[in-house]
Amino acid sequence: MKLAFFDTHGFDRKAFDQANSMWQHEITYFEPRLRHATAQLAKGFDAVCAFVNDRIDRDTIQLLKQEGIRILALRSAGFNQVDMKAAHEFDLPVVRVPEYSPYAVAEHAVALILTMNRRIHRASNRVRELNFSLDGLVGFDLHGKTVGVIGTGRIGQVFARIMQGFGCQLLAYDAWPKPELSQQLNLRYVPLQELLAQSDIISLHVPLSPETHHMIDEAAFQSMKPSVVLVNTSRGGLVKTSALLQALKSGQIGFAALDVYEEEEGIFFHDMSESGVQDDVLARLTTFPNVLITAHQAFLTHEALANIANTTLSSLRAFEHNEPLVHQVQLRS
Ligand code: NAD
Repeated sequence: MKLAFFDTHGFDRKAFDQANSMWQHEITYFEPRLRHATAQLAKGFDAVCAFVNDRIDRDTIQLLKQEGIRILALRSAGFNQVDMKAAHEFDLPVVRVPEYSPYAVAEHAVALILTMNRRIHRASNRVRELNFSLDGLVGFDLHGKTVGVIGTGRIGQVFARIMQGFGCQLLAYDAWPKPELSQQLNLRYVPLQELLAQSDIISLHVPLSPETHHMIDEAAFQSMKPSVVLVNTSRGGLVKTSALLQALKSGQIGFAALDVYEEEEGIFFHDMSESGVQDDVLARLTTFPNVLITAHQAFLTHEALANIANTTLSSLRAFEHNEPLVHQVQLRS
């Protein structure tokens, strides 16, 4: 098949080129993100492959169909960037990679917690400047702390298991609790409000949807312990950033560790060290010593990239051969 890849970067080109030696698709990599203004690049291709910050709205889908695109392949687990109603209406099947490595994302969440808590980033910078003082680097033991896991799906479960290994007490919230996890992971499902109020660390692992959009807002911050560590490796839109800023300014929370940001589109994945960023909120966030931000890299392991490439290319091969699409996104997935 002739595949048009949007929003491509060196790391995914390498992984897809390696995987494609087996699948033999004809791949063209485009740098621009997929949106209505760039969708015409897909003319003459059979399929489009998109990433997390592409904007695949109704107009884009309509144009893709007009240009002859027969399937949309997301090289991500989340599909909040797609208007699924429109995709259904225009008969454009959408496939995704529901599970490529829950370990990659969960381990990154833990890396953020450890880095933030023990100030590893600050300590490393100090030592490079031959400053060997320890003032300001005091952390806390994770052992015995209460960790709130919001979303006990694939990633949330791996995260919970790792935190259990540290000797933490686990609280969980999920719209569809899995009772068997209570015993397996020694976690206790509680209402969201109780989790927010009792946790020393809160980690978000639910997908972004109309129901979860801004689930961490002013009221949620007010419920949290003032020392809480909030970790978001899921989607930026789960946290209302203006409320986060307010909570940081007023000392309402201890730390925020973010791999995703509400307005990351057009910023994350790009080198802006020469141009600077126009986003004042992001710029302000980076000034807090108790905020740690990575640019949506939780998925970025060799294993995850190889799985993303193989799953995506095999879904497209299945489509080409009229075989069942096991990773198709259903309208109400
Ligand atoms: P999953 O589908 O296995 O688990 C999601 C969990 O959230 C499920 O247990 C589900 O019941 C729960 N849930 C769904 N809607 C809810 C709601 N309204 N309220 C409460 N609970 C709800 O997904 P996963 O594989 O664990 O991935 C979780 C999210 O992580 C993805 O949706 C994606 O946004 C994000 N992610 C981020 C990266 C990254 O690089 N930062 C990489 C992969 C995935």
